[in-house]
Amino acid sequence: MAGFLFRRNKADGYPGKGFFDKPEPERRAKVNRALCKGCGDCCSACYYRRIRIDGKGRAHVRGGCSGCAACMNVCPSGAITMIDID
Ligand code: SF4
Ligand code: SF4
Repeated sequence: MAGFLFRRNKADGYPGKGFFDKPEPERRAKVNRALCKGCGDCCSACYYRRIRIDGKGRAHVRGGCSGCAACMNVCPSGAITMIDID
């Protein structure tokens, strides 16, 4: 039984496979807080839930941003830009 489980975990298509091989993002979102109006549109657009409105009513990008730019594309204020990760 245990051997069966072991082989199964090693098979291609195992849900865990690919997670650790995922390439690191090359860019991330950055918020210009002076332009942000706190509307929350970026939060709704982020599939990964990596951007939130903070206690001061401004958007804040959390760790794990994929760099997909969905937030930038919906921001009505042009407050979000994408920056390269060193
Ligand atoms: S969509 Fe733009 S203006 Fe609205 S909360 Fe996000 S960064 Fe701020
Ligand atoms: S770039 Fe993509 S993952 Fe990063 S905060 Fe914006 S919508 Fe979310």
